[in-house]
Amino acid sequence: MMDIYDCIIIGGGASGMMASIFSAKNGYNTLLLEHNEKLGKKLYITGKGRCNLTNNSSIENHLQNIVTNSKFMYSALYNFPPNKVMEFFSDAGLRLKTERGNRVFPSSDKSSDVINTLIDQMYNYSVKYELNTAVERVEKIDKIFYIYCRNGIIYTTYRLIVASGGVSYSGTGATKIGYDIARHFGHNIIRPKSALCPIVLKEHTVALNGLSLKNVRLTIILNNGKEFSEFGELLFTYTSLSGPIALALSSEINKYSLNNAIARIDFKPALSYEELDIKFQKEFKTFAKKDLRNYIKTLLPNKFCEYFFVRTGLKNEKLADLTKENRQHIINLLKKFDFSIKSLDNINVGIVTSGGVDVKEINSKTCESKLVENLYFIGEVLDVDALTGGYNLQIAWSTAYLAGNNLKG
Ligand SMILES: Cc1cc2nc3c(=O)[nH]c(=O)nc-3n(C[C@H](O)[C@H](O)[C@H](O)COP(=O)(O)OP(=O)(O)OC[C@H]3O[C@@H](n4cnc5c(N)ncnc54)[C@H](O)[C@@H]3O)c2cc1C
Repeated sequence: MMDIYDCIIIGGGASGMMASIFSAKNGYNTLLLEHNEKLGKKLYITGKGRCNLTNNSSIENHLQNIVTNSKFMYSALYNFPPNKVMEFFSDAGLRLKTERGNRVFPSSDKSSDVINTLIDQMYNYSVKYELNTAVERVEKIDKIFYIYCRNGIIYTTYRLIVASGGVSYSGTGATKIGYDIARHFGHNIIRPKSALCPIVLKEHTVALNGLSLKNVRLTIILNNGKEFSEFGELLFTYTSLSGPIALALSSEINKYSLNNAIARIDFKPALSYEELDIKFQKEFKTFAKKDLRNYIKTLLPNKFCEYFFVRTGLKNEKLADLTKENRQHIINLLKKFDFSIKSLDNINVGIVTSGGVDVKEINSKTCESKLVENLYFIGEVLDVDALTGGYNLQIAWSTAYLAGNNLKG
């Protein structure tokens, strides 16, 4: 007769490791299954290798930064809020620091220290784990879950926590096993989509690759008239818009059709049309002999200036020769420089997956399935996603806490 574990967790990422600690701390004989050769492979690359593990701000701020199903996260965040997460890691011996935007990192700037802290805690509470163990399917007969692995082993447990993550960044081990298990037990899956990903353009932007624009406003205008807007830093790649404001907007627009959608850049968001016109009238007189190209270079980065002239077909005239219409046309271009959106980038490129297990069928106070007793879903496998800033890992920790502390029997 094989051992029947009190609790098995599928996935040794952020949420799985955290849940295993609480499960074992509560006295459950706990086994964690991970198909990679090591734990926390995605965690390792978070925050550019530094791991922005939470945001040291209010629960309300976290809720505001959750793009999909923030209400579902209310209970999880109240039970294991950011300050408790920080306390958890500090008590476990990890020194933390808070940076710009309340982003929390390990003082060492090494994500491996976060992973090692979790592994130490798993060891302290006697969590067992198996690496190189890919779960292929699960079934439940009477009260027991049977977990079938690719290596032929079948594990059994009374309580199952699915922490297998989203489907983006497959190189870190992401698979759709969590969705398959959920579907098997009758759960609805909200179609997975890219979130926090670049916005691919129809125009060629090869010449702009690597260009970063600070303090601009990016507005996405959808075919149905809806508009989404962010102010901050924008980055051009060969084919797309990236950087903080494009990534943030991608998470907001991924629920809509992007047919005929426009990405509009305002290069001078601090100045109104009227203020720009007054400035231009004055400067066109003062620098009357200057040519337009040199003048535009004072307003836009050199790299964009070249692109600006090619795209708009503007002539390089002396400022003195420009008419009122020319001036207003230039202002219009600076306030409304449009690109056509082709699509969002591939789901594999998205920092997080939007979509997943439908939270309507999950108890928000425990993360237990409303359809199957003793089955829990936590972390990114759920249809919950947030903006950058440590909010996504906070979702992983808080949902893990709920499941690990609400196992029954
Ligand atoms: C480049 C990048 C940077 C990021 N930076 C940040 C950041 O700084 N701050 C932040 O808050 N968020 C960040 N995120 C998001 C964050 O990493 C995720 O939201 C978080 O890791 C989700 O945790 P999880 O436990 O749900 O999933 P994961 O951490 O993805 O863990 C899931 C685990 O399940 C395993 N698994 C999958 N299928 C199977 C199977 N069949 N059998 C066994 N095991 C399986 C996987 O190998 C994986 O280890 C970043 C994401 C990326 C891609």
